[in-house]
Order: sequence, then structure tokens, then C-alpha cells
Amino acid sequence: MNPQQRNWTLWYYLIIFVLILSIQWMFLDNRYAARTELSYRDFKEAVADGKVEEVVILERQIVGLFRDTTASADTTDSHVSTGPVAPWRLRLEEIERQMQRQFFVNRLPDMDDPELLPLLEKAGVEYSGRIEDNFLRDFFLNWILPILFFVLLWAFLIRRLGSMGGPSAAMQFGRNKARIYAEAPDKQVTFKDVAGIDEAVEEVKELVDFLKNPKKYARLGGKMPKGVLLVGPPGTGKTLLARAIAGEAGVPFFHLSGSDFMEMFVGVGAARVRDLFQQAKAHAPCIVFIDEIDAIGKKRGTGVVTGGGYDERENTLNQLLVEMDGFDSSSGVLIIGATNRPEVLDPALLRPGRFDRQILVDRPDLRGREAIFRVHTRHLKLGHDVDLHRLAAQTPGFAGAEIANVCNEAALLAVRNGHDAVMMSDFEQAIERVIAGLEKKNKLINEQERRIVAYHESGHAIVGYFTPGAEEVQKVSIVPRGIGALGYTLQMPLEDRYLLTRTELMGKIKGLLGGRAAEEVVFGEISTGASNDLERVNKLARDMVTVYGMSERLPNLNLASQSPGFLGQEATRERRSEKLEERIDEEVQRIVQTAYDEAKALLAEKYDLLEAMAQKLLEQEVLNRKEIEELLGAQQTVS
Ligand code: ADP
Ligand code: MG
Ligand code: ZN
Repeated sequence: MNPQQRNWTLWYYLIIFVLILSIQWMFLDNRYAARTELSYRDFKEAVADGKVEEVVILERQIVGLFRDTTASADTTDSHVSTGPVAPWRLRLEEIERQMQRQFFVNRLPDMDDPELLPLLEKAGVEYSGRIEDNFLRDFFLNWILPILFFVLLWAFLIRRLGSMGGPSAAMQFGRNKARIYAEAPDKQVTFKDVAGIDEAVEEVKELVDFLKNPKKYARLGGKMPKGVLLVGPPGTGKTLLARAIAGEAGVPFFHLSGSDFMEMFVGVGAARVRDLFQQAKAHAPCIVFIDEIDAIGKKRGTGVVTGGGYDERENTLNQLLVEMDGFDSSSGVLIIGATNRPEVLDPALLRPGRFDRQILVDRPDLRGREAIFRVHTRHLKLGHDVDLHRLAAQTPGFAGAEIANVCNEAALLAVRNGHDAVMMSDFEQAIERVIAGLEKKNKLINEQERRIVAYHESGHAIVGYFTPGAEEVQKVSIVPRGIGALGYTLQMPLEDRYLLTRTELMGKIKGLLGGRAAEEVVFGEISTGASNDLERVNKLARDMVTVYGMSERLPNLNLASQSPGFLGQEATRERRSEKLEERIDEEVQRIVQTAYDEAKALLAEKYDLLEAMAQKLLEQEVLNRKEIEELLGAQQTVS
């Protein structure tokens, strides 16, 4: 707690204290809640009956005491039996009795009853009057209290804002949240921590170099780009790369996220942008990094107006464009943006002179993945059998974030499995877990369903195994997993593939249909277990027809109804005639039917193997690569 805060707390207690006091004072009249309230008539009756001992006539009330009737009899009686009583108890009882004797009568100030005083005289009641001075109370109620209330409200608001963003943040609405970014030296990220995206690293290195020695480049007339955009799928290391730049740069580095510009108050975003650029210019040469820039950079004037935030975002984007135009690159401010959705960005952002250079941060290839594994296993104690190359081969399509996840999971699994180093088996388990979700060993499945799953998965495996061009079958399991999967067959290519032949695509479709085909061949009945397979089959077959032009009747045509828009452009939408749609559907159907028939034929032919594999699966739940090979013989893959 800093001194300023402590000061505030003190004030707080003071104010609350005063408030409580004042409330007490206001309700002073009600201190004796036990008092009896009488109507004026009852009161007069009581006086006439001689029940009243004493009254005080106030402006609005008459307060008084009943005559004490219980005093003599009661006290002596009760105390004889209980013996000696502590003096404080006597006193308490006395007070209680006094309070029970009290009464009050509400009265209007101008209610002057000429009969009252004679009545009191006659009954021998002691009476007196008092004119209340209410000036202080009225002053307090009408003036001080409202003011106090607002002061308190203000204090509260300011403190709230203060806790949101430093002291007196209320005065800093428009200021940006970017701070010059520096991590503790032991946490600092450098290019050594970024692997598998060497081209991107190379490009940003050049830019950082530019910032450090502008002269070297200026000599040849080179001009630094104003802004670069890191573009790539999620988890490929864009944010990581930016942090590494900060670690390496040796120049001030402003880091903030696109959503930081958005506030619920109109105009704040634009003000933040302005302030950010002001600060940046003051610190030049420097780097400004805006992560998730699509939060502000979405296309303007398209789409539906989504609530009040929309205009605000547009204003912010406009301000950003204005600011980017407003300085030239010789000022030494480099703006780096990152996004995984470049296609939604406003084209104006991508114009030369703004984010005119784009750096692709793509999913890593085999060697890249190996390098990323190396980075993330640096701090792990690895077993002797761990082969990073093999791990990289088993994780095609993984991005850096997923690999980091695998390494972490593997370390946790190693602990759970009681290993004293992280073994290859831990990694393999971790990969499976990342791909297929957690095992649910205790999910109860009845025996018949288990049999269906066993044959279904064996069908996938056998069709995949004996189909030329299909992917290597790594593992078959009937342990239920994660979201609804009752079993799975892990098939993976041995290497990254960028092209697929027609035969390979057909092989994939056949393998996917193998599960349902096995059910039909064995049980003569099909189940719902193939829904996910069918979805993927449908997508593959449709792509073969409409995107790759691989069907017999509509060869070599791209019939895609929608091609993804290139950076920032609208996606194009073509209308297809109904007749064409029909023919496409026919072709898709033909492909699927052919593949299904072939799969069924193959399974009928290999019925013994199917039977053997399913039995083995029911026995031991999981078959790994080696056991599959023992069972089926060497895989005939042609690629
Ligand atoms: P992005 O911003 O592209 O969505 P991140 O940079 O946030 O992805 O990556 C998340 C995490 O994944 C990083 O903190 C890092 O641990 C890991 N990671 C991602 N890409 C790489 C990479 N190329 N090299 C090393 N680690 C990576
Ligand atoms: Mg990110
Ligand atoms: Zn299946």
C-alpha cells in the first residue's frame, strides 16, 4: 500500500464514521423503541384516569411516563427467591422498567388544545414544555447529507478507476495502455526460443537491424517499411515472435492488443491511438506491436451494425490510418501487427505505406517441428529412448502451441506414470491426448456396443492398411475418449504432404468408410457410430469434385461456389445452376459409393483378419503399430 492509498483509506473511515454518527442523531427520537405510542384521545383518558406521572410537551410530540405501579410489589417478590442479585442486574431491570413506563403522543405543532393544561393540573401530573431548536438538524439533513453522499460516490468512483489503471486513472481515459515493454531478464524471450519459423525470424531480424543501424540501409537508398503484418494460423508463434523481437531489439518496444483500444466510452479508442503514436514518436527509434489487430482493423462499413461498439471501432481504425500516414518511415517508428484473420482486415490497412509488408508465420514443417520440440524439451529431463525426429514425424499439422502443449502433457504424464525421466511412451501418450482428448477408461459401454466398436475400428484399420496410398496405421483403440468418441484409429502420413493424388484421396475415403463397411459385413446392420466418418467423407468427395476437378463426368473444372477472398477482398460467390448442382451431387455420390463398395469387398476378402483383429482389440483394447504389423503382415503402402 503506498502512502497515497493509505491517505484515502483514512479519509474513508472518517467519512463513514461521521455518516454513522449523523444517522444516529437523525433517529434520536426513536432511541427508545420500546416506548408505547398513544393516540391523543387515549392519552387524555390516561391522564384523567391518573395513570400518568409526568409529561413534557414538545413541538411535535408529547412524551411522558406512566405511573410506576409495579415497583414495590414486583421487585421484592422476585428477588427473595433468587437470593442476592448483582447490583448491575438491578440497574438493568430498573432501566427496563423505566422504558416500559415511557410513552409518546404525536402532535401537530399547531394543535393547541385549551383543555389539556387544565386536565393535567387536575390530575396532578408534572408537566413542562420545550421548544425544539431544529435548525442544526434541518441544516444537516438538507445540506450536508446530500453533499456528503456525492462526495462519497465520487471518492468511490475514482478509487475504482484508480484500481483499474494506476492512481488517478479517471483523468487518463484517453491515454493508451501500452507501456514500454520490458520483461525481467530471466524471463526474456529471444530468437533462440522461436523455432521452426526461420523465414519469419529472418525477416524480422532484418527489420530490427534496420532500427539499430538505419545508416547502413539508408546508404543504399533503402527505405524501411512503416508497418509489417505477421499473418498465420493461431498458435504458430506470432505473439512469441513479437516478444522475442522485444528481447532482441535494444529499442523501446510498445506492446498492446487490439482489444485494448476498445472501451465502453465513445472516442476513447481514437484517443488511445493518438496518444500511442505521440509516445512512440517521442521514443523513436522504437517498435509498436499491436497483437490481434483484427479487433480494430475489420473492414469498415460492411456487415451488420453490432450495437454501439461498431462506430467506435470504425473511429479507432480511421485514427490508426491517419496516424500511420502522418509520419514517414525515417522517423524510426516500426509498427508490427499480428493477426490470424488477414482476410477480414480493412483493405486500407494493407495499402502500401501502411502495413505494406506481410510476413507469413506458417505451421512448421517436419524439421521445424523437430526444432520446436527441441526448444520445449530443453528444460525437461528426457529418457534415453526419446527421439525428437520421430516425435516430429508423428505430429504433422501441429502448430508450435500444440507442440508446447504436448511437451507439457508428457512431463505431467511421466510423473503420473512414475518415470524418473520423460520417456518416449509419455510423449506418445501426450500426442494421443492432444489429438483425441482424454481417455475415459471408466465410461461404461455394454458388451454388444463394445463389439460393434471393435469391428468398426478394425474395419478402418484393415482397409487403411491394405489400400495403396493410405496413411500409415499407427494405432487402434477402443478406449472411449473425450467428446463422444468410442474408439479411434490413428492414421498418419510418414511425412508432410503438400500434394495428394487421386488414388490417395480415394484411399482416404475408403479408409474412412471402412468402419461402417465392417459393421455391415459382420453384423448385416449399420450403426450411428460412423457419423463423424461420413462427415469427413462427404467433405473430401465434394472437394474432389468441385475444387480439384477429379470426377469422371466433370473433370478439370473448379466448381467451387465460394473461393476464400484474398487478403482483404470480398469472398467471391458464384451462382450455380440447379442442373449443375444436381450433377455435382451425382458425382459425389458415385465417388462415395465406389469407395464403399471397394471397402466392403476388401473386408469380405480379409474377413479372417478382421475377425482376428476385433477379437484382439476386445481382449486388450489397444493395438500399437508393432502388434498391427504382426497381425496383418507388412503394410503395402505406395506413395
Ligand atoms: P500466436 O500468437 O501465433 O497465436 P503464440 O505466440 O501465442 O501463438 O504461441 C503460444 C505458445 O506456443 C508460445 O508461448 C510458445 O510456447 C509456443 N510456440 C508457438 N510457436 C512456437 C515456435 N515457433 N517456437 C517455439 N514455441 C512456439
Ligand atoms: Mg497471439
Ligand atoms: Zn469410424
